[in-house]
This record gives sequence, C-alpha cells and structure tokens, in this order.
Amino acid sequence: MHLTDLPEPSVDDVEGGRGVKVKVLRVGLDGTDKEINAAEYGAAPAGSDVLVIGHESFGVVAEVGPDVTGFKPGDYVVARVRQPRGDSVYDLIDAPDFTTDDTYYEHGISRVHGFLTEYYVEEPRALVLIPGELRDVGVLTEPTSVIGKGLTVAWDVQRRLKVWQPRRAAVLGAGTIGLLATLALRLRGLDVTTFARQTPPNLNADLVGALGARYVSTDERPFLDEARQAGGYDLVFEATGFSPLAFDAMQALAKNGILVLSSVTGGDRTVEVPSDRINLDFVLGNRVAVGTVNANREHFEVAVRDLSQGRAQYPGWLERLFTARIQGLDNYAQAFAALDDRSNIKVVVEVSQP
Ligand code: BGC
Ligand code: ZN
Repeated sequence: MHLTDLPEPSVDDVEGGRGVKVKVLRVGLDGTDKEINAAEYGAAPAGSDVLVIGHESFGVVAEVGPDVTGFKPGDYVVARVRQPRGDSVYDLIDAPDFTTDDTYYEHGISRVHGFLTEYYVEEPRALVLIPGELRDVGVLTEPTSVIGKGLTVAWDVQRRLKVWQPRRAAVLGAGTIGLLATLALRLRGLDVTTFARQTPPNLNADLVGALGARYVSTDERPFLDEARQAGGYDLVFEATGFSPLAFDAMQALAKNGILVLSSVTGGDRTVEVPSDRINLDFVLGNRVAVGTVNANREHFEVAVRDLSQGRAQYPGWLERLFTARIQGLDNYAQAFAALDDRSNIKVVVEVSQP
C-alpha cells in the first residue's frame, strides 16, 4: 500500500454528459482490503499497475454533467461496488451481483479503482442517494447492502414454503457483518443468537445485547450444543470468514430452515464432515444453503431502510461500530494497523470534510 498522485477525474470521463463527480468524505475498510494488501485477492484495472482500494464509500456530489437527472451537487451518495460489465444475461439486466462470468468488476477490489481517493466520477446508475439524516452512518450502507442481499435472497427462496414464519435465527461471527446481520434480523422481529469466539465482556457482546439479541461465546459453549438445545434455527447467517463453520451451520438448521453463506474464503482448507447425516437432514427436512455475494441497487435500498430503522429503534448503536477513525489519506498506514487489531469493529478513513 502506498500513497500516489492520480489525475483528478472529470464529469466528462463518462460519455453523454452523464458523469457525476463525487467528493469522498469517508471510506470504510474491511477484511477484503486486508486480503488485497496481503496480495491474496483483488486485481488492478487493465493497463494500470496500481489499484485504488476502498469499496465502502460515502461522499457528496460535487458536480454533475449536463444530462444527469436524479443527482445534484450537495447530495450524499454511496456507490455500488460491482459493475455490470460482463457478457452474462445478469449483467445485461444490471444485476452484476449474479454474474456468471468468471471475471467480475468491483470498485476497489477487482479491475476497477475504488474510492479511497479524494474524488471519483461515476454514472448515475452506479450511485445510491443517501438521506441527509444518515450522514454519520452512511458509510455502513455497503456492508449493510451485503446483508440486505443475503436476507432478500433468503426470503425469496423461502417463498417456496408459502407461509414461512421464521422465529429463531443464529448469526455466526460478531464482526461488522455479523453485528449488522444481527441488527437486520432483530428489525425483522426474529429472536437472534450471535456466536463468536471471544468471551465477554467485550464491545461486540455489548452491542449484541443492546439489540435484545443473545451473545454466545463458542469458547464457553460449542455452537452445535447450543443449536441442538435451541431446537435448530429457521435462519443461520454465516459471517465468520472460517469455512468449516459452514458445515456446522448446516447441522444447526431446523426443518425448512435456510443457511445464508457470506464468507469470502480464499484459502484451500479441507475438513471432514458427517456427510450422510447432513445430506439426509437436508432431504428429509427440506433445508437450504445459499451463497450470497455483493449487492444490487435494490439491496442498497434495503440497506438504507435498515440503517434508518436501526437508527430510530436503537439510537446511537450504529455509531458505536466505528472503533477507529483515521484522519486523512496520508495516514493510510494507521488504517491498516487498525485493521490488524482484532479488537476493532469498523475502521474508517475520514478523507475530507463536506
Ligand atoms: C465486498 C463485496 C464484494 C465481495 C467480493 C466484499 O468485501 O463488500 O461488495 O462483492 O467482497 O469481492
Ligand atoms: Zn466489503
């Protein structure tokens, strides 16, 4: 990682007078940025020897091209991460999160520059309007959209059941995604147990408790013991980044239950599983496991609603996720040090003032 000077983008970089120039205010970092910095994941744009990182953005519109409608200077915006640049039918309908192409284009991750920079220019289609009252937490829109997609997919799949009424959910992991998933499930009225290794007291456990959910340390109580005692879960959201847990999670589902897998695991770990049992239970109990990645416009909109409702129902809770605020791009090294500190939840870089 290093700091570099790049030419300032212009609204004319997008054809047809449809460029929107955004001044970046704040960028969140996550495990994906860590993997990119470790050269385990990610790719620079063709012809570029650097990749501007940063995919969790929050900014304010600085200037719009003559043919832009729907955005004006002063509007707060978040950019979608994945671009519909592939050849698949999903790209054609602007659902690149479902692309079947092997090559995908993600700002700050894969083949397109990201937002840890002072300005970027995008077309209106790539931007999501953020209401002013979400200004302090708007940088959480992208991670929340990942959960918005996972839950939308889960509810879509469960329409097969006609009268699905999920009651009990488990979330695996209490990092930013696990905590935001706990919030989203509480907002949907579920009884939630969130599992993580660390034994309380810690901030993550406090945050889970503040939502009226239960925090269980798997060091104190094995996940499957707890799941069996609970009678299984109607929905499990896996967000630990540790793939063996996906197979434990399959065994924690109640009949008709659904497991949502969201961990991006770049390694090559293998594990032994009770395959007959898992398979039999999936068949006899109509269980489902579904993977989910990225998010489409509708999921960013779900995220905006979840953040608004979250702010109203649990005042101050979202702000508590920001455990490290790094001032300015110059201090990028501090941001990466903060990411390595496992006690941090959300690390953000304050890029500029509005
Ligand atoms: C991002 C997603 C992206 C995924 C895979 C995550 O960190 O939040 O937008 O699709 O990584 O690259
Ligand atoms: Zn991410």
